[in-house]
Amino acid sequence: MTSARRISILGSSGSIGQSTLDVIRHQAGLSVFALSAHSQLQQLVRDAQEFHPKVIVATCEQSAAGFDFGSLPGTEVLIGTQHLDTIATAADVDVVVAAIVGAAGLPSAMAAAKAGKTIALANKETLVVAGELITRIAKESGSTILPVDSEHNAVFQALQSGRRGEVQRLILTASGGPFRDCDLQKLQSVTVDQALDHPTWNMGPKITIDSATMMNKALEVIEARWLFDVPSDQIDVVVHPQSIVHSMVEFVDGSTIAQLSPPDMRLPIQHALTWPDRVAGMTPKLDLSQNMSLDFYPPDLEKFPALGLGFEVARRGGTSGAVLNAANESAVKAFLNRDLSFTDIAASCREILEQHEFISHPTYGQLMAADAWAREEINRWTTV
Ligand code: MG
Repeated sequence: MTSARRISILGSSGSIGQSTLDVIRHQAGLSVFALSAHSQLQQLVRDAQEFHPKVIVATCEQSAAGFDFGSLPGTEVLIGTQHLDTIATAADVDVVVAAIVGAAGLPSAMAAAKAGKTIALANKETLVVAGELITRIAKESGSTILPVDSEHNAVFQALQSGRRGEVQRLILTASGGPFRDCDLQKLQSVTVDQALDHPTWNMGPKITIDSATMMNKALEVIEARWLFDVPSDQIDVVVHPQSIVHSMVEFVDGSTIAQLSPPDMRLPIQHALTWPDRVAGMTPKLDLSQNMSLDFYPPDLEKFPALGLGFEVARRGGTSGAVLNAANESAVKAFLNRDLSFTDIAASCREILEQHEFISHPTYGQLMAADAWAREEINRWTTV
């Protein structure tokens, strides 16, 4: 790597945060400037003891109130969500890893973009909710957004093979989740435990449920639309159960460029942290001496209606991304609490989208209002 980099990890206790720390553990040129966690404070302290950050932020004031942070020499302990902005914009930070799950990660990602930071973006909701706004802000401030999401990281890499005007379409791969071979009838009685059992990726509960409904892919279509400034009709999704090809870019001449690797989030994280350099990594390489087959087939939009919502929202823009994301976040929460059936996750999202008052170029305040409205709407589905 050409220069050492100091990193702030927003959401360090989660799955992406922990993988990021593992990448840093193995790369001499990378160090931790700051960490933040919501309520997993034991983990936060353990990581602070190992990585010696300048600052740690505990965002859940309730959890932090009675907690003993012990002795952390050289580390400042800050409590409250407002301090996320501090570690996202500090002058000493070279890369901000935005890994807070859900819409909660949006304000600090926006702050980093305004400050012109290089952002390793794992929080896809930022682009789903406020894609138009944040990409404009990033352009104005000179902020670089590097995708950590494995599909988008693959597209980002594949895009280096040609010029922007030469791109025909982006092809996002989807594992299809645990129910790809399940029939429509059976989907209605899916339990929480079945939905949490993902075949190829080991992730947090929210994204695992999103993967089972294929809402994750829907959100990724919207994410790609804004991140790469490509219209929705130039984005396709293909089911690829092995999760080896992480995505592809088709160019106008008919060449399709793909990025392949065994599924391991540490690779796209490392790519974003060290970009534009490539450095030796610790993730497993493809073993082509073993028999391996790669399958691809089109997604079943009837079985996974959430995916269709993604294309619709990517086309419409405006407040629709904020509404879909918020409706889905609350629907997933309700499903995990066993208050909503699996198939009602997408059904409720569709109805809430249809009922919302669309604004085509919303302000940040209007996006937040649309988000809050959609979260309330889910109650009509769960209180019956
Ligand atoms: Mg992904």
